[in-house]
Formats: sequence, C-alpha cells, structure tokens
Amino acid sequence: MITYSIGLKNRFRGITVREGMLYEGPAGWAEWSPFLDYDDATCVSWLRAAREAAEDGWPAPVRDRVPVNCTVPAVGPERAAEIVRASGCSTAKVKVAEPGQTLADDLERVEAVRDAIGNGQVRIDANGLWSVDQAVQNLKQLQRFDLEYVEQPCATVEELADLRRRTDVPVAADESIRRAEDPLRVKKLNAADIAVLKVQPIGGVRACLEIAEQIGLPVVVSSALETSVGIAAGVALAAALPELPYACGLATVSMFTQEVAGEPLLPTNGFLPVRTVVPDPQLLEAARADTDRTKVWEERLSRVRSAG
Ligand SMILES: [Mg+2]
Repeated sequence: MITYSIGLKNRFRGITVREGMLYEGPAGWAEWSPFLDYDDATCVSWLRAAREAAEDGWPAPVRDRVPVNCTVPAVGPERAAEIVRASGCSTAKVKVAEPGQTLADDLERVEAVRDAIGNGQVRIDANGLWSVDQAVQNLKQLQRFDLEYVEQPCATVEELADLRRRTDVPVAADESIRRAEDPLRVKKLNAADIAVLKVQPIGGVRACLEIAEQIGLPVVVSSALETSVGIAAGVALAAALPELPYACGLATVSMFTQEVAGEPLLPTNGFLPVRTVVPDPQLLEAARADTDRTKVWEERLSRVRSAG
C-alpha cells in the first residue's frame, strides 16, 4: 500500500490536495481514495471497488475507446472558453450555481462555452444547489444555449421528480444515486432521464453494471477525482456498458499537478483509450505522502477493513 498526496491545479470540492492509497494485486493496480470528509461506513464501498480492481479485474470491454467531456469550473467566460478549446473535447460540462455567484455569471459562462464548442454538447452541473422554483426559472434562461442535460439541479429525489414535470431540459442524477440508500429510487419516482455512476462510491465496476441494468436509464460514467489508476476503473465500466450514448466525466487526471502513471489517462481528440494503467516507480515515489499522512491513511484503512 502506497499513500499518495498530490496537489490540485484549482480548488475542487473545497480541497487543494488529493490523497489516497494505491496497491497492486494479482489482477492489477487498485486505488482507494475516499474523500477525507467521508466517515468509515461510507468508505466500505470504496474499498470493495479497490478489491475488485486488485483481485478480480474487470469484465471484458465492448469498445476500445470512451468519449469524455471537459469540465469547466465556476470561472469567468474567457477562461471557460480557453478550457474548452484546449481540451479537444466536443462535450463540455459546466459548473453552475456556485455559492457567491449569480445567474448572470452562469449565463455568461455557459454562453462562452456554447460559442467555443460550436455544434458540440453543453451540459451543466448544479450539485443540488437549486430549489425546484430556482431550477425552473434558471433553466428557462439557460435553455437557450441548447443544454444536453442538467446534472443534479436540486438536492432530493422528490425535487428532481417535481422539476422533471416542469422543465424540458433532461435531468441527470448524480448525488441522488451515489449517496443514496437506494440508488433505484430515482427510477421508481421517475426523477431522472440519465444516471451518473461512479465506480468507487458505488463499490466497483460490476456493482455499477448491475445498477445500470436495474435502473434502465442511459448511464454517464464519472470519476471521483482519481489518479490514472482509479480512472482506469471508470474507463473499464464505460467500456463494458452495452450502450454508451453520452460522453463520460473521466477526463479529470489533468486537474492533478503530478501523475503516477508513465502514460496517464488523458484524452486525445475527446476520447480515452481502454487499457490498463501501471504506475511508474519514480513518479509513484515522488507522489508518496509524508509519514504523518501515511499513518492517517493506514489507520483509516484498518478501521474501514473491520467496518466492512
Ligand atoms: Mg456531479
């Protein structure tokens, strides 16, 4: 088990450093990197995902590359356009509803992204921060930029269901699936058009494939901000899904200031290759956390092992 600690280029979900553990099992390399604000019980499914990668490997792929979106954080319009143009992706996911910003900021940013991406797809993610009324009003204005879908516009499954009856913009459920007791409630309440699945929070590629089958909605595979080792699991899921109608949120390795793989999983012309990832020993050593942080993670792991 190697504990890594890698800086992020920009603050993301309140953090500037990403930490986790990497190890090699008989089936390949595995990543275990639950966010530090998660309690031990929440981390059990993340460990299940790591065990699958290390011990069992993943189901056979049905495609050899996976389309991915670029991610535009809550930046100004010029920077937003730059990010899109530099990415080479034909789908962009734009962060909206950032605390401290206004709808005018969102409109400017989404407009800049729409201009930069031309005939490509623009989706937005509100991370559950709008009320249903706010979502209805805001989408009325944002809709003119031809949105592919809005991800987690409101916090609860009931709100998503309510909103779906009041907007024409397709709704994707993210937090409502990965942080829910029952991920299938989204389907039962007709609360979403699209399901966002993440391998570590849900407990592995096979666990995600099972949900995908039961939920009966098109799936978008997204990352939990992992190194290339963890991203490879997301790519394996996207590659094994019978259908993949949307670009996936797996192009996040570039948000890290350091990489552990000699050949990182970065997109070329908007696609990630389907392949295994093996860390480079020197890069791994350079990303290794100090003794104190390693101890924190080793203790966390032993607690989660006994909880699972
Ligand atoms: Mg999301």
